Amino acid sequence: MKKIAIIGSGNAGAISSLFFKTFFKDIEIDVFYDSKKQPTNVGQGSAFKLPELLYMNENHYKIFKNYNFTLKKGVLYKDWGVKNNYIWAPFFGTSHALHYDAKDLRDMCFKYSSAKIQDKKINNWDDIDADFIIDCSGKSKDSDDYINLKNPLNAVLLFEEEKKDISYTIAETTKDGWCFKIPLQDRLNCGYLFNDNISEPNIDGTLIKFSNYIHRNIFSKRGAINGYKAFFIEPMEATSLDFYLEICELSLRIIENKLSVYDASTIMLQSAFRIESFLLYHYSKGSIYNTEFWKFSKKLCDSYDFSDLLSLNYNNFGFWPKENILDWFKYH
Ligand SMILES: Cc1cc2nc3c(=O)[nH]c(=O)nc-3n(C[C@H](O)[C@H](O)[C@H](O)COP(=O)(O)OP(=O)(O)OC[C@H]3O[C@@H](n4cnc5c(N)ncnc54)[C@H](O)[C@@H]3O)c2cc1C
Repeated sequence: MKKIAIIGSGNAGAISSLFFKTFFKDIEIDVFYDSKKQPTNVGQGSAFKLPELLYMNENHYKIFKNYNFTLKKGVLYKDWGVKNNYIWAPFFGTSHALHYDAKDLRDMCFKYSSAKIQDKKINNWDDIDADFIIDCSGKSKDSDDYINLKNPLNAVLLFEEEKKDISYTIAETTKDGWCFKIPLQDRLNCGYLFNDNISEPNIDGTLIKFSNYIHRNIFSKRGAINGYKAFFIEPMEATSLDFYLEICELSLRIIENKLSVYDASTIMLQSAFRIESFLLYHYSKGSIYNTEFWKFSKKLCDSYDFSDLLSLNYNNFGFWPKENILDWFKYH
């Protein structure tokens, strides 16, 4: 493997470039972006794969000092339980994740990957000279290749609050959905999530609408799609970057002829359905609110089969140990 081409310089393109540089030291990486389409500046919470990748390239001290990361030791759920106002979901053992500023993360990844970054719009993979392509150019409009994932949310209002010295993400229910609060070194980044078919919250913020989906065929022999082009689901549990890094890991196994394209796509489909189930599980017992949104989400969950999630087949789910999944019901 001599040359990888990455289309897109958003979060997905950035972590893909660092991933491939980490595993193929002598590789050449070309990154193409379209200056008319700026990367999305959201996404500030990670799970475990991101710190693992970053620490393979730089020590903790420099990462926190130069790139403004903060420590994430778990998630504090507020007002999800009827019996308990606070449910603390710590990561197991000494594990931790990170909060990050999206632009800082991209700067760091591109610096350490030594990628050659070019402002060039790519219309066709055939125009690229590379051994493998990772296409992170954002979601294609309404193609039949996407499967919708079940989730009660489709919109967010982004806003900022004053800095808070905490080392966890806050996930707080509201009458319209829930709100994330992510502590960065200089501010608290917040997102008020809701469903615009149900309510129109009167909150000052930048509106982003989204859908929840997975692409059926992420891989081919020539390359893979990644980032928004491959998968998106609401931000609870910060699953995106780990999902994108899993696509990189499977791409590596395809390149090394250790995994078929079909099997890799099937693994990522299963992964997306497990995340869908895991996130819906959070809504299944409702919250302190008895509003239209919570009635709607509860109904969505009533017809959903959680038996796979709750089966004894898994010792943990994502970064939740099995006991935490069971506790979610106990403490509600
Ligand atoms: C409210 C919200 C909260 C989120 N929170 C989290 C979180 O806490 N944690 C997390 O991990 N994720 C989170 N996400 C998801 C995260 O924002 C996305 O996963 C990430 O931004 C995906 O970026 P991307 O690189 O796929 O696409 P983009 O950022 O949209 O970048 C697309 C890139 O492709 C380029 N491009 C487009 N077309 C072409 C072309 N034809 N040729 C060349 N280049 C092209 C563009 O120039 C751009 O550089 C959140 C998302 C939302 C909406």
